[in-house]
Amino acid sequence: MKKKVLIIYTGGTIGMKKTEKGYAPISGFLGEAISAIGDMNSADAPLWDLCEMSPLLDSSDITVKEWNKIAEVIYKNYAQYDGFVVLHGTDTMAYTASALSFILHGLDKPVVLTGSQIPLSEIRSDGRDNLVTSLIIAADGIANEVCLYFSGKLLRGNRAVKMSADQLVAFDSPNYPHLADVGISIRYNYSAIGKPSGKSLEMRPFSNVPIGVLKVFPGIQFGLFESIMTEKLSGIVLETFGAGNIPSDGGALIPIISRAFESGSVITVCSQCPSGTVTLGAYETSSALKSAGAVSGFDMTTEAAVAKLYYLFSLGLSKDEIKEKMEENLRGELS
Ligand code: ASP
Repeated sequence: MKKKVLIIYTGGTIGMKKTEKGYAPISGFLGEAISAIGDMNSADAPLWDLCEMSPLLDSSDITVKEWNKIAEVIYKNYAQYDGFVVLHGTDTMAYTASALSFILHGLDKPVVLTGSQIPLSEIRSDGRDNLVTSLIIAADGIANEVCLYFSGKLLRGNRAVKMSADQLVAFDSPNYPHLADVGISIRYNYSAIGKPSGKSLEMRPFSNVPIGVLKVFPGIQFGLFESIMTEKLSGIVLETFGAGNIPSDGGALIPIISRAFESGSVITVCSQCPSGTVTLGAYETSSALKSAGAVSGFDMTTEAAVAKLYYLFSLGLSKDEIKEKMEENLRGELS
């Protein structure tokens, strides 16, 4: 029997139309563009349905609300389809992939996010291959997790990072092997693909938790950020240098971190380097972070750390439980 895939279109360049103000997603336009791709209806293609979200968004406008909505469409249609393709703008695709990996608990079917750098309606679009290959991967049922397919690479969703604003090879997962490399054939990397959960699918929607990302830079005056770190934010991702280092700034950050921790915030230390891991305590400039109550994000991407904070706070866990779970591997997001 033919496999059946649900294509969920959220917006993004792949289905955009040129308007006077630049590219914008227009309702109904993607359906027409897909119908013009003969291969989508060839005898070898899986069966598919298209579900268009409303409103269609440039992915810069995607929020927690849309993450929950996309997850809900997958959850409600889970039994009827063998796999799912989520068409999404590239700008925040790695965030949405990370978020879905946490919201969808017990997932045992492929959810493949993809999009394009050039709209499908244009002659040189990269969207055609991204869409057709994602459709096949979603129907194959081998990478049964949230993944991201783009220009020949199938990546674990919560390990993916947008690497280029204008290259067609726009994504990679510097800290995790590709789940598949696609050339003449689709070569799955079986050892990198997650094991079946054996559970039934549950949805763990996110609440609108106040989360922040603070990127340190030479000369940063931590005092300027004190009130947002101690009073406003529940979860903070601190993007540090190298293996988790921060400027000393006369020791200014450490008491702020202690106060933030005492007032219920969880500060997770990630690296500004796309590859490698945070090792708190490797240098003097990072060891105080740990004693002040910060947790290590190890080799997690900022996107995954942000989504994981939303997830754990939304579960209503205590700050000590959240701290513990931030350092545990929950969905393959850290090594
Ligand atoms: N601004 C677009 C978006 O993320 C870019 C893209 O789709 O490539 O929705």
